[in-house]
Amino acid sequence: GRAPRFHRKFTQLPDGSGAPSNSIRVMQWNILAQALGEGLDSFVQCPPEALSWSRRKYLILEEILTYRPHILCLQEVDHYYDTLQPVLAGLGYSSNFCPKPWSPCLDVDGNNGPDGCALFYDESRFEFLDSVNLQLSAMRIPTNQVAVVTMLRCRSSGRCVCVAVTHLKARSGWEWLRSAQGSDLLRHLQTLVQKHAHDSAGAQTLDIPLLICGDFNAIPTEEVYRRFAASPLGLDSAYKRLSEDGSTEPEYTTWKIRPTGECCSTLDYIWYSRDTLRVDAVLDMPTEEQIGPNRLPSFSYPSDHLSLVCDFSFKEKE
Ligand code: NDP
Ligand code: CA
Repeated sequence: GRAPRFHRKFTQLPDGSGAPSNSIRVMQWNILAQALGEGLDSFVQCPPEALSWSRRKYLILEEILTYRPHILCLQEVDHYYDTLQPVLAGLGYSSNFCPKPWSPCLDVDGNNGPDGCALFYDESRFEFLDSVNLQLSAMRIPTNQVAVVTMLRCRSSGRCVCVAVTHLKARSGWEWLRSAQGSDLLRHLQTLVQKHAHDSAGAQTLDIPLLICGDFNAIPTEEVYRRFAASPLGLDSAYKRLSEDGSTEPEYTTWKIRPTGECCSTLDYIWYSRDTLRVDAVLDMPTEEQIGPNRLPSFSYPSDHLSLVCDFSFKEKE
């Protein structure tokens, strides 16, 4: 039953600060809700034993502890109160959780409650300033998708950072809804950084760096992706830096086989403020061979989505 873990390496970027001790490590990961994995997802090539919570919880924690991110953004969390919050609190993480208002997990027999987004941060590295849970709207109508936005202050540098985690509407046919939800999130972020810029004397809006992690359920050609890339907030997608030309997203962040066929696509992103943050390093993706013929999840890896991990540092002020 125990398969080897993926061996992934960090690619150090040439413009990195060269001072990894100052880096902020960020992890984005859709961990696969336990109720959805066992109940609704139909991962036909994954042995049912690989989907048991008793196995998956150790693989999930092992993945997190392998990289020890300072900021951890998770989607599809349906074991927050009984597992992730208490275990990670014991390791020095504080957190905020926002359940989906009508989580599909609740339709599964024996579910452990609604799934939602969770944002964890290393308390020794960051001071808590503020956090809001958002229900994303589309044309002013509240939807079933949420976000957690947390304002933090780096204890060593004194710099603020605004971190958001979200999980947009899944499936094809809903591109317009993802676009509206993304725009709503961008609007909220603009308002929040403006408010905090006013609170901290003299700071400009664009001085508060943003980190937006999410399962956008959108490939890079979708409208919501283009809206983020073109936003006046000055955002860029960190994983593009892994490519040869520095401007191409990875080939996949999720790879699974359902009865309807194989799905290998890029849906997950770490957006960052390009004027105030620098990407120092990016964790590479496992190869097709490492992932294996039955794809994900598997005995080696507990989710159908891969974790994204990047090291950032604050750019010096001009
Ligand atoms: P989404 O469509 O956003 O998807 C919910 C989950 O299903 C995601 O975690 C997604 O994973 C996963 N998923 C995506 N594609 C598939 C697939 N082909 N097969 C199985 N799972 C898949 O859900 P919503 O939040 O919009 O909620 C939809 C469900 O919630 C409804 O089916 C209903 O059960 C319930 N609901 C009920 C309401 C009511 O009034 N009764 C109102 C709203 C919701 P990933 O993101 O990784 O792709
Ligand atoms: Ca899912």
